[in-house]
Amino acid sequence: MPYAYDPQNVFARILRGEIPNKTVLETEHTLAFHDIAPHAPVHVLVIPKGPYATFDHFAAKASAEEILDFHRACAKVCEIVGVAPGQGYRAITNAGAHGMQEVPHYHLHILGGKVMGPLIQ
Ligand code: 5GP
Repeated sequence: MPYAYDPQNVFARILRGEIPNKTVLETEHTLAFHDIAPHAPVHVLVIPKGPYATFDHFAAKASAEEILDFHRACAKVCEIVGVAPGQGYRAITNAGAHGMQEVPHYHLHILGGKVMGPLIQ
């Protein structure tokens, strides 16, 4: 395992219903909800329900069913929040210290509703 998974991280607590969230979409293996401190008019976090700390952990360890469910959910979220089809969006993930990951449960940020600017600022 590339990173130890901490079951007390805030997204694990959201998945257990211990912390409320504004859900955009829930599927068998995936939850999408609005970021609590949005960086754009649209800022949704998409997380797998399984205990994966980072993108590379998820990609290496999750089942094909989980990976498909996650990506189909991402596409559906883009449709629900109106960025695709639409004016487009940015999908990014942070991993580890150099990626400045704050919450150690894999999540994809879907950002939109404005021109996002350069990738690295
Ligand atoms: P990271 O830096 O790990 O890629 O992003 C973590 C994101 O989670 C941040 O954008 C932050 O605002 C968001 N976040 C942290 N705690 C909570 C929470 O309790 N609820 C929600 N909805 N978002 C959170």
